Amino acid sequence: MARIFSGIQPSGELHIGNYLGAVKNWVQLQETHPGALFCVVDYHAITGAYDPAVLRARRWGMAKSLLAAGIDPAKCALFMQSDVPEHTELSWIFTTLTPLGDLERQTQFKDKSSKVESIPAGLLMYPVLQSADILLYRADSVPVGEDQIQHLELARDTARKWNAKFGQEYFPEPKPLLTPTRRIMGLDGQSKMSKSLGNTIGLMETDDEIWAKLRPAMTDPQRVRKTDVGRPEVCNIFQLHKAFSSAETVAHVDAQCRTAGWGCMDCKKVLQEGMVQELTPIRRRAEMLDTEPQRVLDALASGAETARGIARETMREVRGYMGLDA
Ligand code: SF4
Repeated sequence: MARIFSGIQPSGELHIGNYLGAVKNWVQLQETHPGALFCVVDYHAITGAYDPAVLRARRWGMAKSLLAAGIDPAKCALFMQSDVPEHTELSWIFTTLTPLGDLERQTQFKDKSSKVESIPAGLLMYPVLQSADILLYRADSVPVGEDQIQHLELARDTARKWNAKFGQEYFPEPKPLLTPTRRIMGLDGQSKMSKSLGNTIGLMETDDEIWAKLRPAMTDPQRVRKTDVGRPEVCNIFQLHKAFSSAETVAHVDAQCRTAGWGCMDCKKVLQEGMVQELTPIRRRAEMLDTEPQRVLDALASGAETARGIARETMREVRGYMGLDA
């Protein structure tokens, strides 16, 4: 059985972008891949400027959201990266194998480093830590979005290099398990859904809050009047229907849009119903966790214990192969 590892930034409560783009898939994978490991990557979150109190709240918000969204600690290990120090130990080992040029070529590094005056070395090393996150558990499958493929390539490369250098077929080359939902655009229809761009719908938002966000959301820009026929394939609302509405509803939306059979407000109302149906149980579970925070702490403690057990064994063997043992 393939071992699955995936990580998520502690960005506070989930929004529908990271829910559809990753977490909904994780909830399904925990059924088919018992023992999957899901990690809140808080060491990754400190590569830029941050406020410790905000980070603390965001770590908590993410852990609670993941449990509310259906991550079940009885089926998988959910843990904080910083609760397993072996992530940084293996990361250091991998820095000794990774050519600087490979890191400087990473698209995300080029993008992020161009926006800061002084580039922290951690920003450059970010994908090395990511490789360590995965290989520490000798995971062979990693659910990822398309934008993470390049980092996964580095992890595969690192596994190959380490194996070749120390003469062992120890680390598997992790394969991408592409998340079925393509990346979710923000409500502005311009860029990827992201909290920092303020174009999201939060997973815990109420029915009214969801409507307040959907009502002004961007649709097909060529559909100016209700009598104009629309093009669902260019409309973000249609993409969200595909995620939240039944197949029959999606077919109905497509037909109504192309024939100007209804207006965009009608279309959004139907979408809101589908979203409310799926998100209300999640919001209820989050409210329950707010009143019983010990459940979150217990889930994280048990996940960290499982993760540490695997991580310690890996590092014991890695140190042995590398001549770092007694
Ligand atoms: Fe988009 Fe629906 Fe309007 Fe068509 S009818 S443009 S799918 S919001």
